[in-house]
Amino acid sequence: MSILVLAELDGNKLKGLAAHVVSAATAWQQPIDLLVYGRQVDEAAKEAAGLSGVARVLVAQADHFAHPLVEDVQDLVLSIAKEYNVIMGAHSVLGKSVIPAIAARLDVAPITDVVEIHAPSTYVRPEYAGNIFSRIENHQSLQIVTVRNTAFRPVAAGGNAEVVSISAPASRALSRWIKEDINHSDRPELGSARVVIAGGRSLGESFEALLSPIAEKLDAAIGATRACVDAGFAPNDLQVGQTGTLIAPDLYIAVGISGAMQHIAGIKDSKVVVAINHDPDAPIFKYADYGVIADLFTALPELDKALQ
Ligand SMILES: Cc1cc2nc3c(=O)[nH]c(=O)nc-3n(C[C@H](O)[C@H](O)[C@H](O)COP(=O)(O)OP(=O)(O)OC[C@H]3O[C@@H](n4cnc5c(N)ncnc54)[C@H](O)[C@@H]3O)c2cc1C
Repeated sequence: MSILVLAELDGNKLKGLAAHVVSAATAWQQPIDLLVYGRQVDEAAKEAAGLSGVARVLVAQADHFAHPLVEDVQDLVLSIAKEYNVIMGAHSVLGKSVIPAIAARLDVAPITDVVEIHAPSTYVRPEYAGNIFSRIENHQSLQIVTVRNTAFRPVAAGGNAEVVSISAPASRALSRWIKEDINHSDRPELGSARVVIAGGRSLGESFEALLSPIAEKLDAAIGATRACVDAGFAPNDLQVGQTGTLIAPDLYIAVGISGAMQHIAGIKDSKVVVAINHDPDAPIFKYADYGVIADLFTALPELDKALQ
């Protein structure tokens, strides 16, 4: 029995997600192969080989993987799938596209957004925006799984896996990469930041001006509610929650956020939650370790001053 884990790359660098998914895969105590694909990914392959718990890094390099498209990643995985009993990826934007499609083509039911694995075949996963955790037994001979990365501690570096080149099937050219618009930021990445400060729609046009000086002082990532994003006060990639990024920082500061269940679904693994809200009955206070009942337009400048 062996396990295939799909890595994800940011340019030519390995995303931190891989260390979490490998950690989840260790539940089976079986050899783990980590699949890395791209155009020039020697650096990522080297990083992948250094993750402890990985037996082999499979590297597929091809021009059409410069910007991997879902169909091509599926074909790559399907070309080697028969060697594995478990195929896993992160419950990320890419994982949510690729893994269920692979499962469909192999006629297997995927188990998604898993937060606990009791090998060989029992999983815990959230339902109803995390209000219920169901325990699922899956007795298919092939297990296809996405895992919530924040639920698994990343494996450490210190591994020395074998790196094996594999060939990639030709691109089916069903879709074509045209361009990507990326918001470049010097701040930590939202999904892995140790500190996150997030704002709701009540910050209005002052969203960036109020949060960024504090984020800078705390070396924090900035997040937003969906209502804030929908109102155009924050870009889409800052959305935290059920339909945004799932986060588990050491410190989460929620400013002017009501605490709707869809938002809480994305922050409930945070270690310490601080809420600033002028309504003492706001639901966010049920989840907060520390609550500040105050107008955010006075509390934030005061916090900024205190941090100075
Ligand atoms: C299918 C679905 C998926 C969703 N996914 C997500 C998701 O991923 N993420 C997400 O965030 N939401 C999501 N939502 C939306 C969610 O239900 C809420 O509508 C949203 O989180 C509310 O955002 P908010 O707290 O900014 O706004 P509001 O609900 O308007 O709350 C504003 C809060 O700010 C406080 N406030 C106002 N003025 C001040 C002030 N001056 N000082 C201090 N406090 C103040 C108020 O007391 C209130 O608590 C989803 C909804 C659906 C239906």
